[in-house]
Amino acid sequence: METADVVIVGGGIVGSSIAYHLTAAGCRSVLVIERETSQGKGSTGKSMGGVRAQFATPVNIRMSLYSIPFYAAFEETLGYPCGYRPQGYLFVATRDAHMQYLSANLERQVELGLKTARLVSADEIRSTYPQLKGDDIVGGSYCASDGFVDPYSAMNGFMSWALEHGARIWKNTQVTGIKVERTRVTAVETTRGMVATNTVVNAAGAWAAEVAAMAGVELPVEPLRRMLVPTEPFDRFPHTAPMIIDMTSGFHFRPESLGFLLAWNDPEETPGFKTDFEPSFIEKVLTRAAERVPVFENLAVNPKRAWAGLYEVTPDHHCILGAVDEVRGFFLANGFSGHGVMHAPSTGKILSDLILTGSTDVVNPELLSVNRFATGRLLEETAVL
Ligand SMILES: Cc1cc2nc3c(=O)[nH]c(=O)nc-3n(C[C@H](O)[C@H](O)[C@H](O)COP(=O)(O)OP(=O)(O)OC[C@H]3O[C@@H](n4cnc5c(N)ncnc54)[C@H](O)[C@@H]3O)c2cc1C
Repeated sequence: METADVVIVGGGIVGSSIAYHLTAAGCRSVLVIERETSQGKGSTGKSMGGVRAQFATPVNIRMSLYSIPFYAAFEETLGYPCGYRPQGYLFVATRDAHMQYLSANLERQVELGLKTARLVSADEIRSTYPQLKGDDIVGGSYCASDGFVDPYSAMNGFMSWALEHGARIWKNTQVTGIKVERTRVTAVETTRGMVATNTVVNAAGAWAAEVAAMAGVELPVEPLRRMLVPTEPFDRFPHTAPMIIDMTSGFHFRPESLGFLLAWNDPEETPGFKTDFEPSFIEKVLTRAAERVPVFENLAVNPKRAWAGLYEVTPDHHCILGAVDEVRGFFLANGFSGHGVMHAPSTGKILSDLILTGSTDVVNPELLSVNRFATGRLLEETAVL
């Protein structure tokens, strides 16, 4: 029978980062199992690639404080590009309540060591981006080290490095069962046969609940469709712009190749494995776009280039990381609720630390444990994009 010290279920950006961090820490027998014939066909290949440290909760801020410098040094450390572009995130406020929220968040971010975030005045926003409808803007916040990465390249870099240093990947192979004997993981069953192992990591993205159930674990992670609309080439808004978030409507956009990538989280979306792009979304997002950016009124979009993917959402919009007390050797890296790309580096580090040493100093892992749903110690992050 095949054996591995650690089996990672899922070869998206999260599984790949865990494989990298384990391998870099000296673990020489890591096997990633991916059911698709190539990596990135889950949420990773559908992502907008935004990375930010401008969060409300300390745990999310800490995860970004590890991840963003990691992305900045990615190419130097791994020898592969990740496409990090520190163009910033600009939150645009139109109500005093927004500003109170942004300044309370900023205080927390600064306390935790973020040096590149600041509040900006309405005049600064209006003069930097006169293309925005500005009469109702009351201010905002901006962080220069926030920005974007290319999720596919980052995933590829993590996995390529891991493979060059002893890790293995089985593609086109599905995990169909997890064998638990006397409350300990002993093997995984796959379409390519059984693999004996004492450690299994669930990195199955939107399908994580299904994989957890194989070990008898109930995991509150639901798939939720999100859609993105890329525009045709457009040069009447600067391509040096950050991710700009209109806090009034939730519409956000960023430059992408010669055009822009438009996003809006439709509150009417309901959970489910829906990955078809819904054409009526185009009008919804364009309406919000033109409201904040009048020059976007005549944007050309090709519906055939728009796409949909799945967020993996938890009840408190925070990820679920770490060991499962009831099943020894079973670890979770799930439920990123829209932040799996930006938090993949810290997730890899946390999981590698917990698997190899039982503790980590990136975050307090108890806060992110799956136990919080049974004990009611939920975290609340309100800045969910
Ligand atoms: C439209 C959209 C925009 C987004 N924008 C951002 C953003 O700006 N910033 C950000 O940080 N995040 C963003 N996200 C979220 C981000 O893409 C995800 O959180 C992240 O990709 C999750 O990575 P993952 O590796 O956990 O999951 P995935 O990439 O989905 O990988 C999971 C893998 O597990 C495999 N798998 C599942 N079950 C099995 C099995 N039984 N056996 C073997 N393999 C299995 C799947 O095939 C898949 O490849 C966005 C998501 C979407 C949909």
